[in-house]
Amino acid sequence: MIKLYNTLSQKKDTFQPLESKKIGFFVCGPTVYDYAHLGHARTYIFFDSFVKYLRGKGYNVFYLQNITDIDDKIIKRAEEEKTSPLSLAEKFEEKYLQDTRSLGIDSITKYARATDHIQEIISQIERLLEKDFAYITDDGIYYDISKFNEYGKLSGRTTEQAEDGTSRIDESIKKRNKGDFCIWKFSENKNPEWETPWGKGRPGWHIEDTAISEKYLGMQYDIHGGARDLIFPHHEAEIALMESLSGKRPFVKYWMHTGFLTINGDKMSKSLGNFVTIRDFTKKHSPRALRFLVLKSHYRSPIDYNENYIFQVNQELERIDSFLYRVEEIAKKKNSEKTKDIIKKIKNKIERDLEEDFNTPLAISSLFVLINKVNTFLDSGNLSSSDAKEVIKLLKDLDRIFGFLIVPKKERFVQYISDENEELKALIAERENARKKKDFQKADEIRKKIEKKGYQIEDTIKGYKIKKK
Ligand code: AMP
Repeated sequence: MIKLYNTLSQKKDTFQPLESKKIGFFVCGPTVYDYAHLGHARTYIFFDSFVKYLRGKGYNVFYLQNITDIDDKIIKRAEEEKTSPLSLAEKFEEKYLQDTRSLGIDSITKYARATDHIQEIISQIERLLEKDFAYITDDGIYYDISKFNEYGKLSGRTTEQAEDGTSRIDESIKKRNKGDFCIWKFSENKNPEWETPWGKGRPGWHIEDTAISEKYLGMQYDIHGGARDLIFPHHEAEIALMESLSGKRPFVKYWMHTGFLTINGDKMSKSLGNFVTIRDFTKKHSPRALRFLVLKSHYRSPIDYNENYIFQVNQELERIDSFLYRVEEIAKKKNSEKTKDIIKKIKNKIERDLEEDFNTPLAISSLFVLINKVNTFLDSGNLSSSDAKEVIKLLKDLDRIFGFLIVPKKERFVQYISDENEELKALIAERENARKKKDFQKADEIRKKIEKKGYQIEDTIKGYKIKKK
């Protein structure tokens, strides 16, 4: 039974989709005016992993993500760069897709651009005006929050706070209520602008997402996600729009929000300029290090990013790689009896960890308990090949969700030499062991033995490298 923390109910709810095994899932995509950074990666790696988990459980997930390709920030940046907003957005959408795919984010069923859904936006505005939830002024069309008495039910408030993701388009002295938000902004001969029955202009932020989700997921769906800065006003406004349009409640059954990736305690953001792009990160480190870094923390907790943390992450990945190597060696042997109940027990524990609000840090620490335990069996030559196969299967199954456990041999931290030289392999393993125990004198003695055999061993940040002298 899966439990999810729901921002709407403010507790962990038992997960029960609207239609047995089908899940409508929407995550707010980026505003494309710059390169995606590690804050974006945090949110999108988490949802990628979570969707893969749901699919692994047999759910048919339609994962929809919008692309905000028209917005004040895009227009401003395009002016600075002397280009058009739409070509700037097109360029950064492409970069976003490249960068997120380089991190193994490949679970999205449909990306939907705001500007490809202007007709759907106009249709929603028409219906909101008809139902008297919206009004027209001389600078735009606004949603009247006083007409929806449940406004504030997601966030517990109706006014903005410092960390909220906001849009300047909503600022206007023509509004009836301070919190009313813009659903259409009028403009005259600006690029880009679209014709409507009420005047030329461009859409507001919140209605872009509801028009898109209505088209692909209908009036009600299962899960809506984003980072926590979107709870208010963005997601609050989405609820108001959709529940006003449909009269049905709840618009979305489960609301999931990720914590921020911070740097020196501040949210990593384009506007603060304190960001590390995914591109720059992957020039220095592997994509799997970033997936691991993200999933090591609970999705609702903040992650404070620094280089030391990556160092630690890389060391743990090295442990996984060395472990996998050793287990694979045993698995190659002739089949033998299954003996270790502990593998099954830990596998079940990991399943329960993930069912509990997708607690990846707990599942990962259970996995390390397994690694330690199986390493002791390996040290004593006491692991059967069937058990080894079972461990590998568990790692493979988990990797389909996490995407950092198993990488092609050439990307592994520890580059092992060919399998024929058993004696050399044993020396290497012994030396690694000594280094782990910080017995550097012993490690050095073994290095000399290795050298006598005609090999040179070198320690790098990615583990050791061995080559023939
Ligand atoms: P934006 O491009 O600013 O519209 O952001 C796209 C998505 O990334 C939204 O869900 C944001 O809330 C999320 N996001 C932006 N910065 C961070 C961060 N530092 N940590 C976690 N999520 C973030």
